[in-house]
Amino acid sequence: MKQNGSALDILRDVFGYPAFRGEQAEIIAHVAGGGDALVLMPTGGGKSLCYQIPALLRPGCAIVVSPLIALMQDQVDALTQLGVRAAVLNSTLDRREAQAVEQAIFAGQLDLVYIAPERLMLDRTLAMFDALCEAGKLALFAIDEAHCVSQWGHDFRPEYLQLSALHERYPRVPRIALTATADRATQNEMLQRLGLGEARVFLSSFDRPNIRYTVVEKDNARQQLLVFLGGRKGQAGIVYCLSRKKVEETAAWLSTQGYPALPYHAGLPANERAANQRRFLREDGLVMCATIAFGMGIDKPDVRFVAHLDLPKSIEAYYQETGRAGRDGEPSEAWMAYGMQDVALQHARIAESGAGEGQKILESQRLTALLAYCEAPRCRRQVLLNYFGEERQPCGNCDVCAEPPELWDGTQAAQKALSAIYRTGMRFGVSHLIDVLRGKSSDKMRQWGHDQLPTFGVGSELDEREWKSVFRQLAAAGLVHVDMTEHGALQLTEAAREVLKGQRSVQLRRPTKRRSAPSKSSRA
Ligand code: ADP
Ligand code: ZN
Repeated sequence: MKQNGSALDILRDVFGYPAFRGEQAEIIAHVAGGGDALVLMPTGGGKSLCYQIPALLRPGCAIVVSPLIALMQDQVDALTQLGVRAAVLNSTLDRREAQAVEQAIFAGQLDLVYIAPERLMLDRTLAMFDALCEAGKLALFAIDEAHCVSQWGHDFRPEYLQLSALHERYPRVPRIALTATADRATQNEMLQRLGLGEARVFLSSFDRPNIRYTVVEKDNARQQLLVFLGGRKGQAGIVYCLSRKKVEETAAWLSTQGYPALPYHAGLPANERAANQRRFLREDGLVMCATIAFGMGIDKPDVRFVAHLDLPKSIEAYYQETGRAGRDGEPSEAWMAYGMQDVALQHARIAESGAGEGQKILESQRLTALLAYCEAPRCRRQVLLNYFGEERQPCGNCDVCAEPPELWDGTQAAQKALSAIYRTGMRFGVSHLIDVLRGKSSDKMRQWGHDQLPTFGVGSELDEREWKSVFRQLAAAGLVHVDMTEHGALQLTEAAREVLKGQRSVQLRRPTKRRSAPSKSSRA
């Protein structure tokens, strides 16, 4: 029902909440007053009300564009229960049902209509909008998951590129674009591609204080995961893996370990995928093992942990994925195990992506930024939020704050490592390079003549694990590039020269304590 009261009255009377959160009130006032807006708010921040309340305040029907067809009906059901008149218009409807919805819009019987992007730009739909606009019955356009317009994100929807046409066609109808993706590049892309040049940008803090961040050095990932899961039986969580095969194997294995788990990836039949998602949402204490295909728009408030067995591709992706934990505000965990092999895999993905050169460079940079997060000696939250342009004090709720790593002057070690890469012709992976540094003789060593190199055996002061850590940190610092077209060979970057020439010093952190070993009381 259209409401006569203020935004706050609607919040209380219709939605049953006592007060607005964060910038909701301002955003609602701006859009209800006819302004365009770009809303960047973390998952769970309360974006929906930012268009739902203006929809009730303005005359006519609001059009909500959302790529999440599977979730539209849930949202509409929730609104209907509150007495808000809402409907979906998507491919799940047959022709007759769709016509009924269209008629209801014209008759002024709907406050909000959720519509799939591919439907929006059909002539038939535009003709309907034209008529509605003419009659002053278009309340606003809301563009949900607006980052789908970015060709660099994995959620890219080509149909989103056409949405700028809404602005040209209906300049007087306010538009509000919403997303939980906040990096600068995507922000600018959204403003540009959605034609939101005049929009006011509402950037909320992306801090999720109830999420505790932990990154461990991968050595036996399954064992490490088990240790992490210890004491979490019965909690709902998500375990992200890179490949479909690993998703299935991990789900099966976790189930044998007393953690009932379901697989989810794009290769499963649609009905199985939907069934697993439904079970995860409705039942308690299930673990979802998934590729990144799982998650966008999943609104399950009590996900207690998100674990990464493989490295995501960027800080944005990591933030989105971990952000699915703790939407209810209760303490939750974001846990990740990563190693050099992950870096190699991600570089391989970029190399094989078929993207243009510029885009590949950008993707590599994004990956390097994530590595820097993993290896940073600073508070994880500081690093994450810094990436989104926010300044912070150390948080006290991450592994680094809990156990600050020891720093050491690693300039010499870095020089040794870099020169081992250089002298072996930038054709070898980490294991061989470590053998060279530690002076380990083998047939392979003799065959390549690497036992004759001046670098051979100069690094015996560090053990294998410490050298691995050095190499990871060099990659994180952008001094080393992992080339997958060369089977994971490490190569020097331009920046490595300065270190080799002694013009730049390198600070390193000691490898974190092995968290795979059960600690104190949990030792079996
Ligand atoms: P987002 O789309 O940003 O991820 P939602 O709009 O789904 O977030 O909101 C997340 C949760 O917070 C929902 O359960 C919603 O009802 C609740 N919520 C939103 N705004 C408020 C508010 N002002 N007061 C209390 N709860 C709110
Ligand atoms: Zn911290």
